[in-house]
Amino acid sequence: MKIVVLDGYTLNPGDLDWSDLNALGEVTIYDRTPAELIVERARGAEIVLTNKTVLGEVQIAMLPDLKYIGVLATGYNVVDINAAKEKGIIVTNIPTYGTRSVAQMVFALILEFCQHVQKHSDAVVSGDWSSSIDFCFWNYPLIELADKTIGIIGFGRIGQQVADIAQAFGMQVIGYDQYKSDQTSRKNFRWAEFDELLASADFISLHCPLFPETKDFINKTTIAKMKKTAFLINTSRGPLIQEEDLANALNTGIIAGAGLDVLSVEPPKDHNPLIGAKNCFVLPHISWATKEARARLMEIAVDNIEHYIKGTSVNIVNK
Ligand code: NAD
Repeated sequence: MKIVVLDGYTLNPGDLDWSDLNALGEVTIYDRTPAELIVERARGAEIVLTNKTVLGEVQIAMLPDLKYIGVLATGYNVVDINAAKEKGIIVTNIPTYGTRSVAQMVFALILEFCQHVQKHSDAVVSGDWSSSIDFCFWNYPLIELADKTIGIIGFGRIGQQVADIAQAFGMQVIGYDQYKSDQTSRKNFRWAEFDELLASADFISLHCPLFPETKDFINKTTIAKMKKTAFLINTSRGPLIQEEDLANALNTGIIAGAGLDVLSVEPPKDHNPLIGAKNCFVLPHISWATKEARARLMEIAVDNIEHYIKGTSVNIVNK
């Protein structure tokens, strides 16, 4: 069975082992695949694995042997799942590998706004403490999280893990989701409508998938509903945010800051307005990339294929 990995490098830059996958068939692993080589490289393969290489309707139509697309990520917006379904191609994702790592990153970003660790350490290195007349100093406001409110948009696996951590900090949690899971045992939690969440939260964290209806749903109208002191965190997908609108809001003080692990185009073009915007941290899409999470991802990707081979596919996203 021919298996092609189109873009394996970010999953395994060399610190993990592909041998479990290699045992499943005739495997070819490419570090990266430019758009113009997708069809040529995937031709003849029954199984194609992709992380961020786009498999749209056009590519799928040109790959008659393709029966299974394994997305090496949770978000599967890089695959046209409907086009795949029409051709009878199973598409799977990896739903749980990164839940804890992504939630941890949300708090790395939130705590950066609350404590400014790097900036204060830099000030010490540059001599500001040695020359201080007091025993301590701080250059930026310090914020305690207890009793602050976090609004979580998309209360699925990662959203709920973020809520667990927020609760350990003593925060109040508001959730918004189309599907209201049972949260009756959760303390300091309530569901809210979208606008109410925007208006009441001190920190807003995005955890819903990218769908046509969620694209650009953070825009100048919705940002205007947030508190002037609010911080926006996005570790989900860049296109959830209208980037010009957020950059303008940050630069004019409509909200206090943004911590972003994802952008609409990755890697970004030089002119992305959020890079360098006021009080904006942009990270290069690394929430998922702890070694522990990547190792789990690889294990689940292999397990998904083993299930497919046995005819008992799991984690299908285009049923
Ligand atoms: P999940 O499916 O468990 O949760 C998503 C939640 O969003 C669900 O509860 C769903 O009901 C809700 N939702 C769907 N449409 C909605 C809408 N229109 N409005 C409000 N809520 C809506 O997924 P998850 O594991 O929590 O992952 C969430 C997202 O995180 C993924 O889709 C992916 O894009 C992103 N992610 C990013 C990284 C990273 O490295 N930055 C890593 C993993 C996942």
